[in-house]
Amino acid sequence: MPFFESHDPVFDRFVLHNAPVKRLATGFDWVEGPVWFGDHNCLLFSDIPNNVIHRWHPAEGVSVFRSPSNFANGHTRDRQGRLVSCEHGARRVARTEPDGSITVIADGFDGKPLNSPNDVVVKSDGTIWFSDPHYGIVTDYEGHKAPSENPLVVYRADPATGALDVMVDDMNAPNGLAFSPDESLLYVADTGRRGEGDPTHIRVYDVRAGGCTNGRLFHAVSPGKADGFRLDSDGNLWTSAADGVHCIAPDGRLLGKILVPELVSNLCFGGRAKHELYITATTSLYRVSLARRGVQWP
Ligand code: MG
Repeated sequence: MPFFESHDPVFDRFVLHNAPVKRLATGFDWVEGPVWFGDHNCLLFSDIPNNVIHRWHPAEGVSVFRSPSNFANGHTRDRQGRLVSCEHGARRVARTEPDGSITVIADGFDGKPLNSPNDVVVKSDGTIWFSDPHYGIVTDYEGHKAPSENPLVVYRADPATGALDVMVDDMNAPNGLAFSPDESLLYVADTGRRGEGDPTHIRVYDVRAGGCTNGRLFHAVSPGKADGFRLDSDGNLWTSAADGVHCIAPDGRLLGKILVPELVSNLCFGGRAKHELYITATTSLYRVSLARRGVQWP
């Protein structure tokens, strides 16, 4: 079975045709939220239904990093290298300090609890941007069933001031998010409320000091939908899809696919040069080396 499917000649220069899409670990239920720790040469990722954050190390394999994890979903690191996590169960975004203690970044808006923070990214100014759809509160599978008390939006939290502001409020159910390499654009996936005819696509916004403007369609993934994604250093967007990882050019064109035998939820760049793509896909963790480098801090 081929590992790659080219839709534009440029994609053949992005991938390495002798590099396998390798399954590193399996046996999970729904893996999400991969985040690379280059200083520890390891990856953290969530198994949401099993309430665990796992650690994968090339020499040591998989071990439990945190359990229970408050049904953690997406993760990232801030500019000090601290782990920032979305927790469905606690309905909050939390930062893990170097001594292991937890700092709550956000757990409510307008006097009411958040829904279930899903995915998170940190801007170079230290602000923490996260999506707050309802997936962790609609059933007990990935959190605790509860009513939604706030709209399904994207927030910006400023840890320096404690401010929490709505940045994107025109989505059905915002999910994965990432900035362009120069941070002038914010990409957000809408995975819909699971209703008939819900929008499932990636939208892109111009980032301004006061918020996000000029929201427009960027790309509609098919088959499946975009959940989590990351960008490479040239601004190509690598997104989850039902049949693998799709590479989308800055102008929204599909350039090619990495074929993965399970439904992909999310991905991140890692390895010594951020040239490896770590892919969380349903029950397994995969990795493939690319001829690209990811935009990823640190
Ligand atoms: Mg997600």
